[in-house]
Amino acid sequence: PAGRTPLIAGNWKMNLDHQQATVLVQKLDWTLKDKKHDHGETEVAVLPPYTDLRSVQTLIDGDKLPLKLGAQDLSPHDAGAYTGDVSGVFLAKLGCAYVLVGHSERREVHGETDEIVNSKVQAAIRNGLTPILCVGEPLEVRTEGRQVEHIVAQLTADLAGVRAEDVAKLVVAYEPIWAIGTGEVATPDDAQEACGALRNTVAELYSGDVADQVRFLYGGSVKSGNVASIMARDDVDGALVGGASLDAGEFAAICRYKA
Ligand code: PEP
Repeated sequence: PAGRTPLIAGNWKMNLDHQQATVLVQKLDWTLKDKKHDHGETEVAVLPPYTDLRSVQTLIDGDKLPLKLGAQDLSPHDAGAYTGDVSGVFLAKLGCAYVLVGHSERREVHGETDEIVNSKVQAAIRNGLTPILCVGEPLEVRTEGRQVEHIVAQLTADLAGVRAEDVAKLVVAYEPIWAIGTGEVATPDDAQEACGALRNTVAELYSGDVADQVRFLYGGSVKSGNVASIMARDDVDGALVGGASLDAGEFAAICRYKA
C-alpha cells in the first residue's frame, strides 16, 4: 500500500525452545523458497523468545536467510542492576531488526503502562531497533464503541518525545485484545478503521509525510484464510501473527497472501 513494504511478523510468544526454533525457521525458509517468495515484496520476520534468539540468528547469518529477526520485549534501560531484564544493546548485537513493545500480554500480565511503553520505544530507537508498537482495546471498550479514542490515546502517550524521523521508521500493530488468541478476527472494516485513525493521529502529531511512511499492522487471530481480505485495505500494511506463526506451512501461507 502506497509504497510501503508489507510486513508479516510472527510472535511466537512463550513457545518453542531453541532446538524447536531452528526446526521451525528452517521449515519456514524452505517453504518460502519453494514458493519463490520475494522478501523484497513482502518482508517476513520471526519474533522468538529471548533464549532462541542466538540459535535463530546463527542460522539466519550462517545460511544467509532472508528472514528478519526480532524480540518480544526489551528493558527501558541499556545496562545495570535490572535482574532478569534484557537490554536493547544485546538485542541489536544479536542481529535483531525488530522488537515488540507494549504487547497487550505485557500490558495486562506485567502491568506495563503507557509511560513504560514509551520508555521502551525510546530504548529500542536508541539502539537502532525498529519497535513494533502494539495498541488495542479490550472488549468492553469496543462494546461501548470507544475503540478509536482508546487506541489514539495509547499511541499518543506511547510516542511522547519521539522524533519525527524515528516515527517515520516505526511499525505500529493494531491488536484488539478480544481478537488475540480467541479465533475471533476483526473485520477488514474494523482493521481499516483503526489503522486509518492511527495514521491520521501520526499525521496530526507529526506530518502527513511521516504518517505515510509508518507501517500499520493488524493482529488478532490472523490465519491464511482471512489475511488477504484484511491486507486489501488501504491503511493495513501487514500482520502480526501469534498462534498461526507456530506452524511453518500456515505462516508461510499467510506470508504468501498475495498468491
Ligand atoms: C499476538 O500475539 O500478537 C496475536 C495476534 O496472537 P494470535 O494471532 O494468536 O491472535
